[in-house]
This record gives sequence, structure tokens and C-alpha cells, in this order.
Amino acid sequence: MTSTGHSEQSHGRFAGGPGGRDPGASGRVLHLDGSCAPAEHSGGMSQYDKRDPNTLYPAPPYPEQEQSLPGAAWKMDPKPDHGEESYVGKDRLTGFRGIVTGADSGIGRAAAIGLAREGADLVLSYLPDEQADAEEVRDLLTAEGRTIVLAPGDISDEQYCIDLVQQAVDELGGLDTLVMVAGRMDSNDDILTLDTSMFDSTFKTNIYSLFWLTKAAVPHLEPGSTIVTTGSIQASTPSADKIDYAVSKGAIKLFTEAVAQQLAPKGIRVNSVAPGPVWTPLQPGSDDAETVAHFGEGSPFGRPGQPAELAAAYVHLVSPESSYQSGSTITVAGGTPAF
Ligand code: NAD
Ligand code: MG
Repeated sequence: MTSTGHSEQSHGRFAGGPGGRDPGASGRVLHLDGSCAPAEHSGGMSQYDKRDPNTLYPAPPYPEQEQSLPGAAWKMDPKPDHGEESYVGKDRLTGFRGIVTGADSGIGRAAAIGLAREGADLVLSYLPDEQADAEEVRDLLTAEGRTIVLAPGDISDEQYCIDLVQQAVDELGGLDTLVMVAGRMDSNDDILTLDTSMFDSTFKTNIYSLFWLTKAAVPHLEPGSTIVTTGSIQASTPSADKIDYAVSKGAIKLFTEAVAQQLAPKGIRVNSVAPGPVWTPLQPGSDDAETVAHFGEGSPFGRPGQPAELAAAYVHLVSPESSYQSGSTITVAGGTPAF
């Protein structure tokens, strides 16, 4: 997709997101633990506040917009919520050292923010074109005291995957978790024009990279370490115009289940997160402007998810708190049936 330029000017953050909801006459919000203390990062709202998911974020229609792949979060209108101002950590990953792929934007950025706020130091992988988004994440998290290493490169290249793992081990002093969020999605509604290079590119990025990164990481992972992959509801409900993508996501589910069994004797757990529609640069990068404007409208909450709403799933699967979970998939799809 080529950029239409519609999205260069942001209308700002989702006003209805955490930090934007009317807290009521008292200016306080009800926390599930019963306290009314303001959250550390949000001026009063965090992921622990009881909220109506229907009205938590604005619903479509959004401004029409397209971008080239890989898209950029900073160009999106409205700007996605990755939890920058709302994710509150509770020391669930103190001392963890991890790699997050696709960490510059979207779900990967939200996962990186969640993991870092829980105490993890991270190496962030992303494409060189995404440097501006990646630096935003690094600057945010280093200011909070975390060690964050930027490692741009192409995960469809085996050598980069090998080097990425080695860089993490060298710079963080070891590796406790490999969180693979990066993915490529494009749309094509005619198999006659779906060419081999696109099919190859989708598979190299979405599934070969998992094989290469896991293979490189396993020798460094001690018992209690974790691997998290990122699937999609496309694995069970494929769209007609996303053949290569949906099939690659189906492969990720099977990869997760098979590798989980193989690595169980080593004490390494392997799980997956399967997102439904989520407001990220993947959408303006791969769908037309009209589709993007109505993205997520048909889901039960009438809106797409925000990346911030997926962070907890990654944190849970990385953390020792999920010690008996392996080979499993957490679906985060706003009520859309899947699996
Ligand atoms: P995103 O564009 O913000 O993130 C995708 C990231 O993948 C990019 O930021 C980029 O850094 C990385 N990437 C792509 N190709 C790469 C390559 N060759 N080398 C290195 N990095 C590369 O979009 P997102 O929606 O946050 O996507 C994250 C994951 O979530 C993907 O695996 C995607 O398939 C999955 N997913 C997204 C949705 C959704 O609706 N947004 C739904 C289901 C699954
Ligand atoms: Mg990106």
C-alpha cells in the first residue's frame, strides 16, 4: 500500500483510553482492589481499574488512512495506546532478560512496555525503517531505569536471528525469555496475483524466524525460561484475502504446540497469544483506507482492541506465575469466537 498522506497529522491519543475516561465527580476511580489511589503512570488509570470494555476506547469509524509496510505507529490517527501512560508493573519479572521482536510498534511495543514495567531488561528487534518508533520505546523505558538495547534487522534473514540472540546474551548477560511478536501481513484477493516472493516473505518472516530464533535461543535458556509466539484468530477463521498470512499463523500455532512438548523436559515453556483485531500499523500498512476506517467495527465490543490490552497476556506467559501453562494459546479477540 502506498501512503495517502491522510495520517501524517495525529489527532492525539485516544481520549477515551486509560487516563481519558471520566473518573466521576470525585475525580477518583474505583480500583478492583477497593483502593482509589491514582495509578503511577496514568494520572489515575491503570490496567487494574474496573472499566466497561465497550466504551474504554473510541469505536470506528476512524479517519481513512494507508501506509506502506512496515507502517509506523507515530503516523496513525488516532495514535494507538500501547500502555505508555497506563501500564503499572508489580515486579512480576524482576531480573528477567528478554528479546521482544516487533517491539517498535503495536502489540510488540505494548508487550515490551509491560515486560519492562514488570522489571525485565530487553533487547528490542524491529526493521531499520522503524528506528523512530523504536527510539520512542527505548527512551520511555530507559528513563524508567531499565536496560533497553536496540537491535534493528530483518528476521527473515537467518544470520540476523542468530546474531540477535547472541547480542542479547552478550549485552544482558543471559536470556530468560524470547517473545516473538513481529509479523508480516499483506492482503491479496486473487491467488493468480499472489506471487511466490510474497508467499516466501510472509513465511520467512512469520514462521522461519520462529524456528531460527528458537533454535538460537534454546542453548541459553535455563529451566524456568519462556518462549512466547504471536498467532492470530486468522489461524482458525482465515480471511479470503489473507491466504499466506492465515496459513503462516496456523503454522505458528502448531509450532508452539510441538516445540512446547519438545522443550518441556528442559523446563522451558512455550505459549502463544492469538490476537483478534488490534489497532496497529499493520492495518493501514496492509488494508485499504475504507477497510481501515471501519476496522474492528464488527467485533462484539464494536471496536478493535488497543495494543495495551494485550500486554497482560504476554506478561502472564513470560512470568513463572504461569508455570503449568505450555503449548497453550491465549486468545485476545474482544469476544470474537476463535479456536
Ligand atoms: P505492527 O506493524 O505494529 O508490528 C509488526 C512488527 O513486525 C513491525 O513493527 C516490525 O518491527 C516487525 N516486522 C515485520 N517484518 C519484519 C522483518 N522482516 N524483520 C523484522 N521485523 C519485522 O503490527 P501488530 O499488529 O502489532 O503485529 C504484531 C503481531 O501481531 C504480528 O505477528 C501480527 O501478525 C499479529 N496480529 C496482529 C493483529 C492485528 O489486528 N493487529 C491480529 C492478529 C495478529
Ligand atoms: Mg512497527
